[in-house]
Amino acid sequence: MPDPTTPAPRSGEPARITCSCPVCGAMTLPADSFDLVVCASDAGRSFYQFTCPKCSGLVTKQASERVVTGLSARGVRVASLPMEALEEHAGPVLTMDDLLDLSIALSNPDAVAAALSSAG
Ligand SMILES: [Zn+2]
Repeated sequence: MPDPTTPAPRSGEPARITCSCPVCGAMTLPADSFDLVVCASDAGRSFYQFTCPKCSGLVTKQASERVVTGLSARGVRVASLPMEALEEHAGPVLTMDDLLDLSIALSNPDAVAAALSSAG
């Protein structure tokens, strides 16, 4: 978890944030190494991520409100969670067979035209 108590940098210096890679351990990275994604409707879905400079692994961790506040105060860019991520999904899961059937259907222009005319 990043340490939001890390002192703010003096003006002109990039903010540095203490964080931890599960493989490489603790390190300090500049604020522009992080991406913070905030979910306004469900704070439990907010997260931050960074690419570890030692192992190149993408590290993603849940961001509590305290972490969101600390990171954004240190200049970490903040993105909102896309609305698609909050959509409710019902019905059966799309399978590889479904995709193959769709691919075959789309390869036949007459079938596509028939489907479009019957849909209207
Ligand atoms: Zn690492």
